[in-house]
Amino acid sequence: MTTVAFIGLGIMGGPMAANLVDAGFDVIGHNRSREKTERLAARGGRAATSVEEAVRDAGVVATMLPDSPDVRAVLAEVFAHARPGTLVIDFSTIRPDVAAELAAEGAGRGLRVLDAPVSGGEQGAIDAALSIMVGGTEEDFAAAAPVFDAVGRTVVRVGPAGAGQTVKAANQLVVAGTIELLAEAIVFIEAHGVDTEAALKVLGGGLAGSAVLERKGPAMLARDFTPGFRVELHDKDMGIVTAAAREAGVVIPLGAAVAQLIASLRAQGDGGLDHSALLGLVARLSGQEKSAL
Ligand code: NAD
Repeated sequence: MTTVAFIGLGIMGGPMAANLVDAGFDVIGHNRSREKTERLAARGGRAATSVEEAVRDAGVVATMLPDSPDVRAVLAEVFAHARPGTLVIDFSTIRPDVAAELAAEGAGRGLRVLDAPVSGGEQGAIDAALSIMVGGTEEDFAAAAPVFDAVGRTVVRVGPAGAGQTVKAANQLVVAGTIELLAEAIVFIEAHGVDTEAALKVLGGGLAGSAVLERKGPAMLARDFTPGFRVELHDKDMGIVTAAAREAGVVIPLGAAVAQLIASLRAQGDGGLDHSALLGLVARLSGQEKSAL
């Protein structure tokens, strides 16, 4: 039985680690706040009080942390304490250049590092149905297949180290733009007094249909912005895609506008809400609601 050390047991990492337990892995978890580690132990995993304790006997190390500095800090410890040959799979969404840099550093210490950001949200994590975009070597990708199969449904190697994060940045661009336009459509339909539930049903069956509409639409109508995917994390991702587009010399005019709207939502104190709270911002911009909640 392979031991998987799982670091970062939040909204996504918690259910992913639980699915690895269900798939038969020996999972040893670590999180900054203890209660999440204890939740994993209650689910059949084991609890570690430090990164070192989690990784020293593991064959695979998985991380699911908020941002690039968090991954840098945790992987520094992983690189110091993991056994040579260990597969290190970072599921977090971070900067592509940082992912490539960490993969090179890990390789220098005899570790095999993959960037493997995911899409599919909390429900996708719970259902083991994530889309996983992987950067790294063919060989390491093949070796990680049993882990990917336990947490994901669509798993694709998209190129060398860092490429997974580049594709994830594109994913976040599309999701942000889609939510913004859905929010504008809902505010528009409501302003005309049309039945919004009926409207979303028929929109969902046509070319305007999307996974975003299907999964976020009902909660948006109910003004339920429980996260899910927090505005502050999407703000981080829009920073990643904006910088990476600039580096590549391409322009993303609509993406840049949506990035500003998400930044505004965060600046107004809504960073902890689900990203579908863009609806509240659009309503406020239209003078229809005084605050998101
Ligand atoms: P989260 O904040 O719920 O989870 C992150 C966890 O990491 C927290 O439990 C936190 O305590 C822990 N942590 C932070 N620093 C740590 C450290 N140094 N040592 C140990 N534990 C530490 O965030 P999340 O929503 O699970 O997102 C995690 C990553 O996945 C982010 O990069 C995010 O962009 C990405 N993502 C999230 C979603 C989503 O729908 N929530 C979907 C796809 C990708």
